[in-house]
Amino acid sequence: MTEQTVADLPMKKPREGEENGAIATANGGGCISSVIPGWFSEISPMWPGEAHSLKVEKILFQGKSDYQDVMVFQSATYGKVLVLDGVIQLTERDECAYQEMITHLPLCSIPNPKKVLVIGGGDGGVLREVARHSSVEHIDICEIDKMVVDVSKEYFPDVAVGYEDPRVTLHVGDGVAFLKAAPEGSYDAVIVDSSDPIGPAQELFEKPFFESVAKALRPGGVVCTQAESIWLHMHIIEDIVVNCRQIFKGSVNYAWTTVPTYPSGVIGFMLCSTEGPEVDFKNPINPIDAIENQTKSIGPSLKFYNQEIHSAAFCLPSFAKKVIEAKSVN
Ligand code: SAM
Repeated sequence: MTEQTVADLPMKKPREGEENGAIATANGGGCISSVIPGWFSEISPMWPGEAHSLKVEKILFQGKSDYQDVMVFQSATYGKVLVLDGVIQLTERDECAYQEMITHLPLCSIPNPKKVLVIGGGDGGVLREVARHSSVEHIDICEIDKMVVDVSKEYFPDVAVGYEDPRVTLHVGDGVAFLKAAPEGSYDAVIVDSSDPIGPAQELFEKPFFESVAKALRPGGVVCTQAESIWLHMHIIEDIVVNCRQIFKGSVNYAWTTVPTYPSGVIGFMLCSTEGPEVDFKNPINPIDAIENQTKSIGPSLKFYNQEIHSAAFCLPSFAKKVIEAKSVN
């Protein structure tokens, strides 16, 4: 992996006595709430009136970068946990579901992906999954916060293993600017592994960003972006679907999967292709289960993704189907 920017940020160790006390949680709005001593509760205006809690054994890292609060704690039942601005980004126990699905849903839908761009994804988990595809020749990742990269390498080596692949180039910067500068048609696939639209990721959910993604993709190229929860964020999903229908003239689909430690226990993905060779996301043509498609010596084997769950991911409950497909008509 080559690094385009080297700016080592100071890393603070946890303050004395915080290990077993109440864990203050911060959300994008910066308000702090203390909760049951020894538990972390995920309180955010993105899911009012509810909060998922994890029992904390020990806080391992707490820091503040130029962009967000960064925390790592050892949980009692989900392994180590990465938290940004009070929102769980990944846990060792269930990160496989998200990283594998956000990566293999797009890459298994096109033949021989060669050049892939990851926006966000600073923990390295998506890189680990992209690296499984032997057809891939070059992987760019643009992550805004170097502290996330450094913290992930220190505390989540099985996730950050993706950075060890020689095909990876790390760009530390804003994904919006990176895509604006990307040459037209330069990528087969773009994967937007962003945090929620509060804080540095806000613009990654807006129309101009999707337009720059479409420009950077080749004809028949694909994008997969983190697309929130059908239980909590149908209003956000509606806007994303409307924008994507206007911008991507290939196919536009919504898929979802289960991740126990994400709010409401599910997370969705927007999958779009640009005009060009047809892409049928629901029927994978480039099965990663097939050993010959896999690069040798990569991280742990697949734990979650398979072809059946790929196709099943596009089956939606009626309340979501009605909204998403209606947005497809007009
Ligand atoms: N799986 C998580 C989820 O679904 O919320 C996302 C994990 S990943 C850690 C999210 C990354 O997006 C963070 O490292 C954050 O720093 C990065 N990010 C947020 N806004 C960004 C931007 N404008 N450009 C590049 N990276 C960004």
